Amino acid sequence: MSLIASDNSDSPLRKTVIPRIDERRISEGEEIDPLSEESDSPIPGIIHRYPDRVLFLVTEFCSVFCRYCTRSRMVTEKKTISKRQWENGIEYIRNHPEIRDVLISGGDPLTLPTEKLDWLLSKLREIKHVEIIRIGTKVPAVLPQRITNGLVAKLKKHHPLWISVHFTHPDEFTAEAAEACRRLANAGIPLGSQTVLLKEVNDSAEVMKPLVHFLLKNRVKPYYLYQCDPIVGSSHFRTKVAKGIEIIESLRGHTSGYAVFNYVIDAPGGGGKIPLLPDYFKGKDDKGNVILRNYEGNLFSYPDI
Ligand code: SF4
Repeated sequence: MSLIASDNSDSPLRKTVIPRIDERRISEGEEIDPLSEESDSPIPGIIHRYPDRVLFLVTEFCSVFCRYCTRSRMVTEKKTISKRQWENGIEYIRNHPEIRDVLISGGDPLTLPTEKLDWLLSKLREIKHVEIIRIGTKVPAVLPQRITNGLVAKLKKHHPLWISVHFTHPDEFTAEAAEACRRLANAGIPLGSQTVLLKEVNDSAEVMKPLVHFLLKNRVKPYYLYQCDPIVGSSHFRTKVAKGIEIIESLRGHTSGYAVFNYVIDAPGGGGKIPLLPDYFKGKDDKGNVILRNYEGNLFSYPDI
């Protein structure tokens, strides 16, 4: 709340969390569960879409209520997920040896009490086929004081542990957020940002460039740039797909490769993440050489023997 300009309704961060009348406008193709997660859910709390990994939803509670949240259908201020549901989820993972990667999300897992989170991570770590555990969180951006030395000491017991942080705008990079990232990175936790492309919030190179530079300086790899999912009442947040491609074009070649997100659309209906790139591949010439366009728009040929 301290980062939202109370007297400026155009403040980018304010737009992401304060409801607007635009949300009443329902557009074609919008769904309560646009990614059809429920149809890939064998038991409550587990989404098993990809063969070797699962999404484990461990709380409905979040540190913030993003107005564009893909899981708006379930994110609430109530805490109703029981220990029994957690145990069932752990049992499911234990019984599926093909699962080598567990992404813990919600809601925001870092809003859980440290001891509960530690218990959950310990149980997952006991399962031999679980190679990596990931946590999805916005806490370092919106509640950085939660990243205490005590929490970090518990987290680092469960390596290899990765954290996907959700940063939206350079305004979130307070000294406290930077310190939260520093503590996590110093504990050996690789950090990546999952950022949602939002109209009139971060949909320009002028905003994205400082954002990715802030992320890198704070040891967070810009990982995914998501096209905003078509949840109900989200059209005022959604840009054209061409805008996302334009932003990638403005980064690739113009700044460090590490600073360039993977721009993806999570396909409605449960198709999974589909990456999109500017048209660098321009076809083949009559000798079979591949014709490529570089970041300056110049063409080059590669001998594709
Ligand atoms: S931080 Fe993530 S889970 Fe929480 S409200 Fe925002 S998008 Fe939803």
